[in-house]
Amino acid sequence: MASVPRRPLTTRGVAILGSTGSIGTTALRVLARQRDRFHVAALTAFSNAALLAEQAAQFEPSYVGLVRNGDEQLHPTWGRGDACLIEAATHDRADIVLNAVVGAAGLDATLAALERGKRVALANKESLVMGGPLVTAAAERGGGELVPVDSEHSAILQCIAGRPAGEVRRLIITASGGPFRQWSSRQLENATLADALQHPTWRMGRKITVDSATLANKALEVIEAHFLFGLPYDRIEVVVHPQSVVHSFVEFVDGSVLAQLGVPSMELPVLYALSYPDRSADTGVPPFDPVELSPLTFEKVRTRDFPALELGIGAGRAGGAAPAVFNAANEQAVALFLEGTIRFGDISRAIESALGRLSSAPGGSREAILDADALARRHVQELFGC
Ligand code: NAD
Ligand code: MG
Repeated sequence: MASVPRRPLTTRGVAILGSTGSIGTTALRVLARQRDRFHVAALTAFSNAALLAEQAAQFEPSYVGLVRNGDEQLHPTWGRGDACLIEAATHDRADIVLNAVVGAAGLDATLAALERGKRVALANKESLVMGGPLVTAAAERGGGELVPVDSEHSAILQCIAGRPAGEVRRLIITASGGPFRQWSSRQLENATLADALQHPTWRMGRKITVDSATLANKALEVIEAHFLFGLPYDRIEVVVHPQSVVHSFVEFVDGSVLAQLGVPSMELPVLYALSYPDRSADTGVPPFDPVELSPLTFEKVRTRDFPALELGIGAGRAGGAAPAVFNAANEQAVALFLEGTIRFGDISRAIESALGRLSSAPGGSREAILDADALARRHVQELFGC
């Protein structure tokens, strides 16, 4: 007698890269409620073996990988080292790869999954920023598909709803403004790590939380939008919206403007990236209450006090390896800020210095991008005598 399948045959397999992080754990909360549509095909983590083991026991993926540390004898079947990201991203049972790794470490997995024809649900915006043309070429070659997880880009995707880029006049990306929205430039200079980690509306990993405080995150998002939606930079704008309820606007050529709203929870864009273009019934977040969420307000960005935003957009416009230099200099400077070596204001100075030196580096191949990335990191380390 044939055995009864444990899961419906039609469920789609999801590989989660970075399953122990903020987005990774959010995704698993969503997937625990969506077992009739999706199953977890693969999980990878950087070093948190204990949480990874718990997740593996709960979701029974076909593949588990740990990049560093962990007792090999305790988990003899797990994949190990950097290669496990690629193994998970290209796993036969994975239809969708949620790339929730932080930073440049996510690039190769994004490329590999797209080459293999997978849907990449992209939280790891850094991979698209550093290698935009490579990533889009990999998708074209392999037949893969990029679907954003970032809440702003998910909003834009939902508003554009399949209309051609020629009908879109402008994207207006919202920014919460971060914890320092109302701080003076003098206060900003000496903001502490504890201050920077107090994000007003989102609970996220430490790197993106600091990026939200400097507005480097918004620069990454403008570049991400440029590659995802094919619009030139002069048609992508940023507005501050402290409540994080309107996730972005799309203005069409006839002057009509659509926005997507929702309570600030990453569960919504994560689920949409998995189920797109369908909608999957879910009740994980509290119901939307416009009165409770009001007022909704909008402000201009204080670009002079948050120079990382325009530095990043400038790097996007310059093209080549400049966005990779911006990304790597930012990652290195944020790492130094997180370990207490440099001040908050040094982050944007480090980015400016690296771009001044390296922004015309060539960027036509993966190797050129990785070289520019390494040079930018070294430049920032030397700048601060590290
Ligand atoms: P996080 O630090 O909480 O988690 C990062 C995950 O990546 C961890 O599971 C870690 O194990 C893994 N990881 C870290 N370094 C790695 C490496 N070198 N190799 C392999 N795996 C590694 O970060 P997060 O907040 O979940 O953010 C993940 C990504 O999603 C980032 O690109 C971020 O910009 C993006 N994002 C996050 C949010 C959010 O709400 N947290 C929102 C939008 C976009
Ligand atoms: Mg975002």
